[in-house]
Parts: sequence; C-alpha cells; structure tokens
Amino acid sequence: MNRPRAAFFSFGSCEGCQLQVLSVEDVLLELLGAVEVVNFREAMDERRDDYEIAFVEGSVIRPEDVAEIRQIRTHARILIALGACACLGGVNALRNRRAIQEVAGEVYGGRQDGVFETLAASPISSVVQVDYEIRGCPIDRAEFLDAVRSLLAGTVPYTPPYAVCV
Ligand code: SF4
Repeated sequence: MNRPRAAFFSFGSCEGCQLQVLSVEDVLLELLGAVEVVNFREAMDERRDDYEIAFVEGSVIRPEDVAEIRQIRTHARILIALGACACLGGVNALRNRRAIQEVAGEVYGGRQDGVFETLAASPISSVVQVDYEIRGCPIDRAEFLDAVRSLLAGTVPYTPPYAVCV
C-alpha cells in the first residue's frame, strides 16, 4: 500500500515544534510507519516536491517566505500549521509592535540595518489557506500524532479548545 507523502518546512521560528516530532522515538517511528516523509531538513538530506501533506512551522518574516509558502501550497493537498509561530505569528510577532529599524538595531547592533529584508511577522494563514492548525509553543506530541492519525483515517483532526499548558 502506498503511504501518503509528507513534508516538513520551517519558516521564522526556533524549530522547537519540529524537534518535538523528532525528539521522541516512538512518535517518529509511528509517523514514519504511516507516511513517507520526502522532505524534512532537520532529519534527512532528501528533498522532494511530490508531497501531499505539508507540515509548516514558523511565521512568515521575509519577502522570500511569501513565495516559498505559496509554492508549498501548490504542492500540498493538505497544509497543517504547526505551533504558535505558524498559527498566530508567535513570539516573532512581538517585534511588530516596534519600528523594524529599532528592532534590527537592537539585535544586530546597527550593523545589519537594511541588510536583511524583513516583513512584519505573520501567521501562515495570512498568505495561504491553512487546512488545520496544531497549536502550542511548542506543539504537543500527542496532539500531533492524533492529527496524523485523523488525516490518514480521512477524518477532521480534533483541535482541543484549550491551551497546551492546561
Ligand atoms: Fe519554537 Fe514555539 Fe515557534 Fe514552535 S511555536 S517554533 S516551539 S517558538
């Protein structure tokens, strides 16, 4: 039986949500048994674009992110936002409250002013349609696996109406 092909992508983030997937062996083994992972920069060298399910971590923070997430959306039949950065903008969005030159000056000591092109940090859904959101900072591994199982069963993943910290 052909397993659905899945890919993982990361935008502006600490990559902690992907680490949640990678950090526990049984989660990873169950995932690998259920889907064929064809793109996962943190875990493998292979890079293929023939995926049906895209898991996307991180927020949109650079002009090139906009083109990249649109490209991912064209490949993915199902796109799932992973974690607070992808769902809401996350910690990155704190910088939206201040002038970008001020923030860049503080982080880079003024040296990088104007070197990195940047946008207001935004959720993935501000650019493309997101089919499901797995919330939390970081995501909860059990919720992630439940969502994968639901998708494989053709049902809608359950999204708890409360925060991960509850
Ligand atoms: Fe890191 Fe939290 Fe963003 Fe996940 S939601 S990538 S853990 S900052």
